[in-house]
Order: sequence, then C-alpha cells, then structure tokens
Amino acid sequence: MLQIENKNIKRILELYKEMHVLAEVGALLGWDQNVYMPAKAAAGRAIQSTYLQSFLTDKWVDREFRTLVEETEVEGLNDGEKAILRNLRHAAKFYYKVPKKLILENTRVTTEAFSIWQEAKKNNDFKSFAATLAHVFDLQKQIAGYLGYKDNPYDALLDMYEIGLTAIECSELFSQIRPAITNLSQKITSANIYKKSNPLIHNKHTFAIEVQKRLNEFILAKMHYSHEEGRLDVSSHPFTTTLGRHDVRITTRYSVVNLKDSLYSTIHEAGHALYELGVSDDYASTPLVGGVSLGVHESQSRFWENMIGKNPHFLRFLLPHLKKEFKEIFGRISFGELVQYINHVKPGYIRTEADEVTYNLHIILRFEMEQDIINGRLQTKDLPEVWREKMKTYLGIIPPNDQLGVLQDVHWSYGSIGYFPTYTIGNLYSAQILHAMKKDLKFDTLVAKGDLLPIRKWLQTHIHTYGSLYLPKELMKKATGEDLSGKHFVSYLTKKFSAIYSL
Ligand code: MG
Repeated sequence: MLQIENKNIKRILELYKEMHVLAEVGALLGWDQNVYMPAKAAAGRAIQSTYLQSFLTDKWVDREFRTLVEETEVEGLNDGEKAILRNLRHAAKFYYKVPKKLILENTRVTTEAFSIWQEAKKNNDFKSFAATLAHVFDLQKQIAGYLGYKDNPYDALLDMYEIGLTAIECSELFSQIRPAITNLSQKITSANIYKKSNPLIHNKHTFAIEVQKRLNEFILAKMHYSHEEGRLDVSSHPFTTTLGRHDVRITTRYSVVNLKDSLYSTIHEAGHALYELGVSDDYASTPLVGGVSLGVHESQSRFWENMIGKNPHFLRFLLPHLKKEFKEIFGRISFGELVQYINHVKPGYIRTEADEVTYNLHIILRFEMEQDIINGRLQTKDLPEVWREKMKTYLGIIPPNDQLGVLQDVHWSYGSIGYFPTYTIGNLYSAQILHAMKKDLKFDTLVAKGDLLPIRKWLQTHIHTYGSLYLPKELMKKATGEDLSGKHFVSYLTKKFSAIYSL
C-alpha cells in the first residue's frame, strides 16, 4: 500500500498527475499516428504532438516542481516516497543537467537524421549518412558529459535506458555468454537433424491472414490479455503503448509467407502489455506506475515469446490447432518438424530476424562499436568496415551490402546510443526468471496444457505488481534470488537446443 505522508511529495504528486495525463494523451496521438492516421494528417499531427511535448517539457522544468524534486530531503521519507523522488530525479536528469540549447540541437539533428537514414538505407548508401551519424554521436558524447559519469562516458548513456547499468558490467556479461553461444550455434548447424529436409523450412507456404488473426486471438486469450483493457491492431513495426491504467494496446503485422512473424511479435508485445497491466493500482498516475526499465520490460516480452511461445511443450499443445487451422500445410507435419521450424537457428545478417541462439551476437557487435565511438577509439566513417569484420568473427558471415549491415537499425538515427544492450539484459533476465519460477510451478506441465494463468500470476506477484518501486537490479534480485548473470541463459539455451537437435 502506497502511503504518502510527506507534504512535498504530496505536492509533487499533484503536479505530476497533470504531466502523466499529458503523456497519456501524447501516447494516444502516437498510437493513432502509427495505426490509423490518414497520410495527409501527418503535418497537422506533428504540430499537435510537438505542442503537447513542449507543454510537457515546460512542466518538467516548472520552477515549483523542479525545486521540490531537487531539494526535498530523502531522509525521513518512507520507501514509496523515496522511490518516487528517485525516479523523478532520474527522469528529470536530462532536462535539468543538459543545456536547453543542446537538447534542441539534439532534437533537430535526430529528426533530420531519421529521414537521411531512411534514404541512405533505401539507396544502400552509407556515405550519405556518415556525416549526420558523426554529428549524432558527437551530440550524445556532449550529453554524456553533462549527465556525468565516473570513468566511461558510455555509462551515462546506458544509465538513461537501464538505471545503474555500466559498460564494464555489459562486457562481463557478454564475455560470459559469447563463447557458449558461438559454440552452440556451430554445433547446431552441423547436426544431422539440422541438415534433414523439413517441409516447413524448405518449402514455400501461404498462410491466410484471416486464419493468422484467429490464431493470434487464440493465444492472446490463453495469455489472458483482455480486450476490455487492450486492443490488437496492425502497424508496420509492432509495438505496445500505455494509454491509461486499463488501456494497454499492442500491434502486430502480417506476412502471408511467414507465419512466425505475426505470431511471435503478437506474443512478444502482449508480454510487454501484461507487465504494464499487472502493476498495482495503488501506483496509478504516480512515477511508480509502468515497467521499471527497458531491460526488465524486454525480459517479460522475451519470456512469453521464447520461454513459452517457442517452448517444445507449448508447441505440442499448439500443433493440433495448427493442424486444424492450416490443414494443408500442417496436416502431415510431425511434432519434431514443428519444433525445428519454430526454433530454426541460422546465423543471419538481420538482428530483428535472429533466432534465440545467435540474437545476442548482434547486440555484442553493436555494443562494442558504440563504446569505441563514444570513447574516441573508432570513427563513424569506418563503421561499415568494422561491421563486416565483426560479423565475420561473431557470426561467420559477411553482409553483401550496408543495407543488410550497418544501415539496418533505426536506433542510431534517433540518437539512441546505449539502448541495444537492454535487449540482451532482457534475454538474460528472462532465463533467470524461468529458473526461479520452476522452483514454484510445474512449468512444463502447465505450458503443455496451455494453462498459462498461473504463470501470468507468478509474474504479476513477483515482478509486475511492483511497477517502478524498486531499481531494476533490486527487483530482479528479489524475484529470482540472484544477481544478473549469463549463467542461466547459457544453460537454458544449451539444454533446449541439445534436446531439439540431439546434440
Ligand atoms: Mg520489445
């Protein structure tokens, strides 16, 4: 139960409530823009969103609010009050420490960078993006300087996405998992079962979109994601957005030739949504509502997507439904063929299409390059070449062009430097959560029956309900009993894929 006794915190929460409403309205504008807005409305919508954003920024820097946030004494506050102040100080750091001139320049440059990147990617022309990208990185370096750091400017950037995460910690985690996943990937791709022909992998199929929609709804119902507090719509890039305490919407996309794309992005986004919906009602409209960090959020989406959705036990449950829904394609498919199709491992060029085993190698490569640029050891103009070298070393393949290499992700054009590692943090946490959950639940049996409610409840009790009360590391330690490490992730992957491919 959240008790607010301190009069400064009471006043902070009154002011924050307005900011929270503005942010939710902004989210609604953004949701509509990505899902339903007609093309000619773009210019008008940009005016609306910018106005709302500047109104919200004014509230963050409002004299009364800022003084209360900066000067309220922590001593004597209860845990909930302390967490409110800590979260606000962290969120406001960017507005309070970085000069307004630099914030505006960063907004201008990254807005332009996005369209320059889009063109460059379309034309496979890194050179036309190189100078802008150098500018984006330089601004991030300056921002890091204002935010402050101990010995590595990259830490200041990481901290914006995952409170308290450092480059040293990332390097340490990556070195724990890299040799094992490289080794596992090589073993899998040379296994006999891997080389056997599989009609789901090697033949072309068409999956009617109406049927895919039905399958998504079937799974959402199993996850107990309710349409009374959410929606499933279509957008070019799937996402989750919170528009209100009981309004968390997700999107998916459909491809007639790829069943996995829509199915797994739906499960992934619903995993994010269940987290937001599971936060205690006590925290509504306060800085404690919502997921605590990108890493913890991703641990939830990846848990549902991989630990459940791609789990062989769950696929055993799903196979009869697939046989019924896509009779012609799945009619003669064996359980093993389904499991190998869903969990197909193949080192590829594109991060977003990567399998569970090779995915984190894509992250390690980006992390190393970001760190080197921010620390002045690498120049942006050399990125394409270094990208190819690292792809060869880590994944054993070299992208034939920059479209499939350095130009593939949107993140750098947005100025999101230090964001990528949170994907791996999420993967590692998800395996750690599974390990802890298995001590309390007969996980495999539940998954094999499609009985997912006890799993959702476990996640809610141990993680979701706390919202942003604890720091990410504290929350995960409380939920799993352990500090973050790569140990459980490596043993999870090894066990799962050794069984699938008889290694
Ligand atoms: Mg996600």
